[in-house]
Amino acid sequence: MSTRPNRHPGPCAVCGTTVPAQAGPLSRTQGRWTVHCTDHPPAASDENRRDDQPPAQPPVEVRYTGTETECAALVQALKLTPHMQVMRVSDLTPRREKPGRHSVYAHVRIDPRLLAAIAREEAQE
Ligand SMILES: [Zn+2]
Repeated sequence: MSTRPNRHPGPCAVCGTTVPAQAGPLSRTQGRWTVHCTDHPPAASDENRRDDQPPAQPPVEVRYTGTETECAALVQALKLTPHMQVMRVSDLTPRREKPGRHSVYAHVRIDPRLLAAIAREEAQE
């Protein structure tokens, strides 16, 4: 896998934040150059990736909004889901416009084998 600094500013492949020129590593993902902000370096799992595996995708981003307890329950449910790995969970953020409501963001990596199985099921419908 080749990496080099970005020559032009561009959106982070994970969060969309604009990365200034020379400030983030470019990586080549399925034939496309993508840039990453300092919070989202190119998939850490690349280190132990084997050549026979497809390139790692950026993690899925989910946001839960609800009471603090509801958000905690949903994050917990995600952590217990087989073949899904919760990479990172943000702090609970109070929603200013909705008193009593909080949001939490999580990054989730879904096992490619699960995705492949779901894609096969969809193709049969
Ligand atoms: Zn980012």
